[in-house]
Amino acid sequence: MTTGLTTDQLIDRFGRKITYLRISITDRCDFRCVYCMAEQMEFLPRAAILSLEEIYQIAKVFTELGVKKIRITGGEPLVRKGALGLLQQLGQLASLDELVLTTNGSQLVELAEPLCKAGVKRLNISLDTLDPIKFKAITRTGNLQQVLQGIEVAKTQKFTRIKLNAVILKDRNHQEVPDLVRFAIQQGIDISFIEEMPLGIVEQHNRAEAYYSSDDIKADLAREFSLVHTETKTGGPSDYFHVAGTTTKVGFISPHSHNFCGSCNRVRLTVEGRLLLCLGNEHSIDLKQLMRREDYQEADLKQAIIDAMLIKPERHEFNLHEQPVIMRYMNMTGG
Ligand code: SAM
Ligand code: SF4
Repeated sequence: MTTGLTTDQLIDRFGRKITYLRISITDRCDFRCVYCMAEQMEFLPRAAILSLEEIYQIAKVFTELGVKKIRITGGEPLVRKGALGLLQQLGQLASLDELVLTTNGSQLVELAEPLCKAGVKRLNISLDTLDPIKFKAITRTGNLQQVLQGIEVAKTQKFTRIKLNAVILKDRNHQEVPDLVRFAIQQGIDISFIEEMPLGIVEQHNRAEAYYSSDDIKADLAREFSLVHTETKTGGPSDYFHVAGTTTKVGFISPHSHNFCGSCNRVRLTVEGRLLLCLGNEHSIDLKQLMRREDYQEADLKQAIIDAMLIKPERHEFNLHEQPVIMRYMNMTGG
């Protein structure tokens, strides 16, 4: 299948321009968040995952095809050996506007400064609660203090933006929402609330019962804060509000309650080298297999990426009330 396109832009069948690539560089993590992983996870062997060199080659080709923003994620990207070197290389890609990173914050005390120097512009740091006991219960292995110290150190660096990400689960951390916003205001940073997505089987809660919608969160916040809708777009699905009288923006990522697929501008590279066209579907092509062929040439990779635009689905098919159709966990895909 070939489009015969010679353009340097990636455009899908629905006219959406793809300018954003998210890359999961490892499925491994030092946490085991209850919504993301099972308690006992089997991780992929080294041969099954892309090498850092392969990741760099794919990222470079994407920038030649018009991608302007790359997010490195995982698993926990900072636990992969060589992650910093890869970020330094990516930071030098001439036509890339923004290199950004999503992290659980556990390594930021040591790595915030080198990350900033490597050219990482913005950080998303996951933080679902400020209560150490709940934090331990949600992450299973995480240490809240370490993450809070990481945020402190990150703030001393010249990132253009630091944003917290919080997945909100009913009766688990939904009561924490106002505290998290107060914390973000105090720190002078932003925060996004995320509705849980049904990826992989989780044991600790029923996803339909734990559903807490963005509208519920907004209603909780309205009792204490004045949220003013902004047109700010960061090329993502977040719908942003300014907290009046502060510099903090609150975003809502609402895959269930407010579908955002119409403006999708992204594709994902999984840790196994699949180019995944939609987080909520399995449409993908295998770039690892292609790159490991004996007769592999970069032009083949370029054409495969252009052709893949033809199979990008129109929208995700998440349904909280059914067994997950998507068996892949978020750590494989890169949230
Ligand atoms: N380890 C890093 C972290 O936690 O930020 C990066 C990878 S993690 C998979 C990226 C984001 O996905 C995190 O903000 C996490 O909270 C979110 N996430 C994980 N599983 C999710 C799920 N099932 N539904 C919605 N968000 C999820
Ligand atoms: Fe690890 Fe991030 Fe998944 Fe938590 S959400 S288990 S920190 S990859």
